Amino acid sequence: MDRTELLGLSLQETEEVVNGLGLPRFRARQVYHWLYKHQVHSFYQMGNLPKELRYFLDQKASITVPRVVKSRVSQDGTRKFLLELSDRKRIETVAIPQTRTGGTKYTICVSSQVGCPVGCTFCATGQSGFERDLTAGEITGQVVAVERELKQREKSVSGSRLLANVVFMGMGEPLLNLDEVLKAISIINDEQGIGIGQRHITISTAGFIPGIKALAETGLQVTLAVSLHATTNEVRDRIIPMNRRYRLEGLLDSISYYIEKTGRRVTFEYLLLEGVNSSVSDAYRLSRMVKPLLANVNLIPYNPTEGSQYRRPEQDTITRFMACLAGEGVNVTVREEMGADIKAACGQLKAATNRRSKQEIRSLKSK
Ligand code: SAH
Ligand code: SF4
Repeated sequence: MDRTELLGLSLQETEEVVNGLGLPRFRARQVYHWLYKHQVHSFYQMGNLPKELRYFLDQKASITVPRVVKSRVSQDGTRKFLLELSDRKRIETVAIPQTRTGGTKYTICVSSQVGCPVGCTFCATGQSGFERDLTAGEITGQVVAVERELKQREKSVSGSRLLANVVFMGMGEPLLNLDEVLKAISIINDEQGIGIGQRHITISTAGFIPGIKALAETGLQVTLAVSLHATTNEVRDRIIPMNRRYRLEGLLDSISYYIEKTGRRVTFEYLLLEGVNSSVSDAYRLSRMVKPLLANVNLIPYNPTEGSQYRRPEQDTITRFMACLAGEGVNVTVREEMGADIKAACGQLKAATNRRSKQEIRSLKSK
């Protein structure tokens, strides 16, 4: 008989499974705590379960946390993890440190898909194609695997929580995999689970309008970030192919709807590409779009990726763009570059090992 996978189940679902095995419910809570509070993923390490019970659970259930294949650390402390899933597909997850009084806390940047079907022309993930959606277990599994690694490295703070935020800004378009993303969020948010507040969870979207509306309906208080990146349909069509179907006007309407429903401030991400979207007129058009929505703008200077046709603007252009927005009263920040030296910055993820294996397959075929 197949063992039941527990990773990705809510506490209630875990209780149902455990109860179905003829065990009392409190055993489910113990297992759930071991998994999400202590990142233990073998029943044999669950100290407060009787030995026979550990054996029994191991026969009936499984906990499949993605395997860390490789990790790299950047000069600024950002860590990129290459994780392998049970079907051997590979994804990347990034941990970005923020040092505060009381120690370092991390923002975990998770992937929601293997590759991405949106195919933005500036994005390494988008250019590498789409393989499949991740399950809720594979999404929460990234947080569990990475927290475990971080704890092992930072022994000094092993008692306290290391994670401050979870952002869906890794590989994939989270709103195209909303059901699994929502299930994962409920575990990430659950006090009994990973325990990160909704406001510390960010979903970033390239503008999938039906997904924005569906997210608004959930009533969740997560943060929505919208990758706007252009102020005209003409430019947006060129860089985010999804814009041909989901136009700017409709996108702005869906964002208004989201704000009205949730009462939350939205963040607009705006990638700065030299000669494409970074002029003074772009800055003024952008400010006219965002001002009525009281939204924040986060400027992201382009992180060049291999073989890309795009360039990052000069610092002067970035400063001028920012000053125009600020002068119009827009709340604007420039995203700090984190992990660029190890290709862990926004849009640089593409699980290079996957690509290598494809090349290997090609070369094998040609022999
Ligand atoms: N699919 C979602 C979330 C993942 S991408 C989205 O597109 O919003 C996270 C952010 O990185 C997005 O704003 C995306 O446009 C941006 N990005 C992609 N490639 C980039 C690059 N090479 N340099 C800087 N930002 C990039
Ligand atoms: Fe997908 Fe986002 Fe990359 Fe576009 S920017 S291809 S939506 S991951």
